[in-house]
Amino acid sequence: MNDLQRQQHRVDVACGYALGAYLGVTVSWLAVLFVIDAVFFIAMLVTIFAGFFGLLRTLFGLPLRLWVLPLSSLVYIMGVFICMYYNTLVLAALGGTVFSIAFAPLIYRLYKNDFAKTVPAWVCKNCGYTLLGLTEPTCPECGQPFDLDAVPKMGELPQE
Ligand SMILES: [Zn+2]
Repeated sequence: MNDLQRQQHRVDVACGYALGAYLGVTVSWLAVLFVIDAVFFIAMLVTIFAGFFGLLRTLFGLPLRLWVLPLSSLVYIMGVFICMYYNTLVLAALGGTVFSIAFAPLIYRLYKNDFAKTVPAWVCKNCGYTLLGLTEPTCPECGQPFDLDAVPKMGELPQE
């Protein structure tokens, strides 16, 4: 693995954790609404795990702007514990719903691979267009030339 592919791998892993935290929160408040305790428990564990490692991954090494998502999922977990203490879990479910709606656009962008925009070297310096996966060394949006070797192609991680 060269350095760029390692960077891309880090981004992929960080985004995977962020996605896990998002799904964990969403499933957990759905489980509260439908009163399925086992699913709620599992979703909480997934959220704690993915939220914690997602936050570490997005804050350190290769800083990514989507650190807000794992951090918010951990705040949600804290809120759930507080609501459990006061026996007002429906309130937590409400907060979880807000979380899921608020981060839906971000998750959609992850799905579209636009998370590459969080790495400055991988976007056009002139117009901000994502350069991943291109085979010509010019930006298709504005024609600005860029270093093709500095941008990894998506989904082309080598087997180790
Ligand atoms: Zn451009």
